[in-house]
Amino acid sequence: MITVAIDGPAGVGKSSTSRALAKHFGLAYLDTGAMYRAVTLWCMDRGLDLDTDQPDQEAITEAVADSITGGHLVMGLDPEHPTVSLDNRDVDEAIRSTRVSEHVSVVSSIPAVRHVLIAAQRAIIADQDRGVVAEGRDITTVVAPDAQVRVLLTAREEVRQARRCGQAQSGSAGAEDLAARDARDSKVTSFMSAADGVTTVDNSDLTFEQTQKVLIDL
Ligand code: C5P
Repeated sequence: MITVAIDGPAGVGKSSTSRALAKHFGLAYLDTGAMYRAVTLWCMDRGLDLDTDQPDQEAITEAVADSITGGHLVMGLDPEHPTVSLDNRDVDEAIRSTRVSEHVSVVSSIPAVRHVLIAAQRAIIADQDRGVVAEGRDITTVVAPDAQVRVLLTAREEVRQARRCGQAQSGSAGAEDLAARDARDSKVTSFMSAADGVTTVDNSDLTFEQTQKVLIDL
C-alpha cells in the first residue's frame, strides 16, 4: 500500500491535482480540508458560536468528536466521485460556502479538534488497501510523515487568488481572502515551506497537465 501526501496553501490546486493523481494510479483520495470544513458546518448547524473572539473550545471539540465517533461524518474516497456527508446528507456544496470558509480556521486551530481529526485521518489512510492520495496542510508533516511520496504544492499568492476566485470581483462573495485564511492557518500548521524530505512543486507557471506530469514522475 502506498501513501502519497500532498500539502500546500489555499488555492494552489491541491484537490484537483490530488484527485487526478489518485485516478491515474487507481488509489483512494482523501481531502482532509473537506473534513475540517464538514465539522465546521456540523458545529454551525448545532448553533455553536464561531463568530466570537473566545469560542467555546470545549463544546466545539465535543461536537467534532461526536461527529466522528457517532459516525455522522462520512467521507467517500472514490477520486471519480468523492463525497462528504453528514447524517447521510450530501454536504459537498455546503462546506465550500464562504460562510464555512470564513469560520473553518476557528475550528481547525483548536488543538483538541486537530487531535481528533488527525487520528480519524490516520485511521482512514491505514484502512485503504489499494493506497491513498491524501491532501491537506499538515499531511506531509503530522498526519502521514512516513508517506512514500510527500509533496508541498505551492504557487505565488496572486496566482492562487486568481485560481480560487475565478471570475469573481474582488470584494464580492466569491472572492474569499485567501491570504487572510492562510495567515490564520499558518499559526497552527506549517504548510508554506517544505519540511525535510518533502519535494516542493511550484506550479505558478505550470498548466494542470504539466503539474500532473511532475507528480506522476515523482
Ligand atoms: O484545503 P481547504 O482549503 O479546503 O481547507 C480548509 C481549511 O481546513 C483550511 O483553511 C484549514 O483551516 C483547515 N485544514 C487544516 N488541516 C488540514 C486541512 C485543512 O487545518 N490538513
